[in-house]
Amino acid sequence: MIEKIKKPISVAIDGPAAAGKSTIAKKAAKILNFTYIDTGAMYRAFTYYVLKRGVNPQDENACNALIPEVDVELLPDGIVKVNNEDVTRAIREIEISQNVSYIASYKNIRLALVEQQRNMAKHRSVIMDGRDIGTYVLPDADVKIYQVASVHTRAIRRYEENLEKGIVCTLDEIEKDLIRRDYIDSHRDFAPLVQAPDAVLLDTSKMSIEEVVIRVLQIIKEKTGVFPHE
Ligand code: C5P
Repeated sequence: MIEKIKKPISVAIDGPAAAGKSTIAKKAAKILNFTYIDTGAMYRAFTYYVLKRGVNPQDENACNALIPEVDVELLPDGIVKVNNEDVTRAIREIEISQNVSYIASYKNIRLALVEQQRNMAKHRSVIMDGRDIGTYVLPDADVKIYQVASVHTRAIRRYEENLEKGIVCTLDEIEKDLIRRDYIDSHRDFAPLVQAPDAVLLDTSKMSIEEVVIRVLQIIKEKTGVFPHE
């Protein structure tokens, strides 16, 4: 049972690629009965459409031109759709990971998706994960967490996750992709990946998933008073 809350609460979890943000955010949201919003899935979905249309992901103008025809949907059961096509699995493929950071660096595409993200957080309590949630999307979030882990730990975690999903890749390929994506994400001009000054830094390198979830719930409780009853 969850304590009664009056106004919607927003929790922002940012950090580099494969730091375990979505795993933790999903679990904590379920426990608190908050809505989980995976903003990375939205940039991935846009990238899927760009590639499907045969547009060069490094051509900003050509990608921007697709904005009016792209409809990204995050459904409550974790299903991701682009123009009504279920792309939940397809957006995890390595080709999407290799191109998504170009798409996410284009200001007009960000503005379109950020507007959608802010609307989703307006009337309900959310845990939203991404790169710029605490700094740009929800600067007044009640709770801000910046979740990190060593690049090697992150690469192993993502590699094992991909194996489970049947996605073919090598550990080396994953590690290189993470380093490259983090670089692009933290060096773009608009809403780059950076820790918000008021975010709690959480290094999960040596923590289990359960430990991280407990810590995140503690932080949410400290900042908002909201917690699941034992
Ligand atoms: O979280 P995930 O790794 O799935 O995100 C994929 C990519 O989407 C990131 O590498 C980043 O380029 C972009 N992204 C972003 N801002 C967000 C969420 C994701 O730029 N809020």
